Amino acid sequence: MKLKVLVVAGDGIGPEVTGEAVRVLRTVAEMGGHEFEFREELIGGIAINKAGSPLPKATLDVALESDAVLLGAVGGNEFNALPPNKRPEAGLLQLRQALGGFANLRPSFAWPALAQNSPLKPEVVNGTDIIFVRELLGGLYFGEPRAWDKEAGAAWNTMRYTRDEVVRVARVAFELASSRRKKLTSVDKANVLEVSQLWRATVTELAPQYPDVTLEHQYVDACAMHLMNTPRNFDVVLTENLFGDILSDEAAVITGSLGMLPSATIGGAVNLYEPVHGSAPDIAGQDKANPLGAIGSVAAMLEYSFGLSEEANSVYRAIEEVLNSGKVTADLKPAGRPASTPEVGAAVCEAISARAVSA
Ligand code: NAD
Repeated sequence: MKLKVLVVAGDGIGPEVTGEAVRVLRTVAEMGGHEFEFREELIGGIAINKAGSPLPKATLDVALESDAVLLGAVGGNEFNALPPNKRPEAGLLQLRQALGGFANLRPSFAWPALAQNSPLKPEVVNGTDIIFVRELLGGLYFGEPRAWDKEAGAAWNTMRYTRDEVVRVARVAFELASSRRKKLTSVDKANVLEVSQLWRATVTELAPQYPDVTLEHQYVDACAMHLMNTPRNFDVVLTENLFGDILSDEAAVITGSLGMLPSATIGGAVNLYEPVHGSAPDIAGQDKANPLGAIGSVAAMLEYSFGLSEEANSVYRAIEEVLNSGKVTADLKPAGRPASTPEVGAAVCEAISARAVSA
């Protein structure tokens, strides 16, 4: 199998972490059976400087011809004065929209070796394994009308969903739950919002088609609390765009570092994989960035885009071995000298190769 992967490394630590993630994919390819063809294109601030646009046409064209896209991060202080539609972040939003992925998958997993890094007590986080399925193309972030009328001193946004938009993302969540611990929590604010009433009615209507999955509904405010008190009780959490943005960031504290978090956006023409973190200008160019969020993102790519579950598991197990070994970057507060970005990448590759040899 020859798989075409577009790498859009972007700004700041983007190239550092995607470099290690690509190294991991090359190691997986060496295990045999498939080949990756990598293309590199510009996005974000570097694209503004070199090509005059945060998402050059060439990038979009190659993205749409690829089997999957790996993105690093975009953004930098030098662009902060630009209007929103000219900033590096606009390139990422345009790419997401053009690729059409409507389901954003964000795991929140309590790695045992990192239990001490979470601000929550180890006995609360231990065993937590949640996947958020956040609707990404609808709701308040895209609804019209939207405006800030400065003269009138008023501003408004619109939260809007159609039944079909709910159905397509709910199906992703039900299927995921069915392949995991078979529990789906749908989150809304149906006691106040009509949009949430449509959401809840639609999800409930689909449930009989997935008889092996237990469906529960939670109000978003209650969910925010339960996530911190009893995170182990969640398996798959389905929610709309704004609630998902907030809840998945809240649950990120469980893992102990932003640098650990992968994400996958699926359902469109081409799936997009990216670590959750930004371009981290404060540590860029110093080999300090944790590449495990980007490496986790290519594990998700192997699983969701290429159906290579065994290879994906091998990457997840390698990440776990590296965490247990203590060879980690400074954000994970190792007992000894912090490892550099390439040292962590190399350790993950060695663990993958060692597993392949012993298998
Ligand atoms: P950030 O995620 O870049 O950094 C927040 C903090 O976490 C910083 O202290 C940083 O050093 C640390 N951090 C982030 N990733 C890390 C990693 N892999 N390893 C170790 N430490 C890590 O968020 P920010 O500082 O708010 O934003 C910086 C720039 O990134 C801004 O321009 C912002 O718009 C952009 N941004 C981009 C994305 C994206 O590309 N998806 C997401 C968020 C922010």
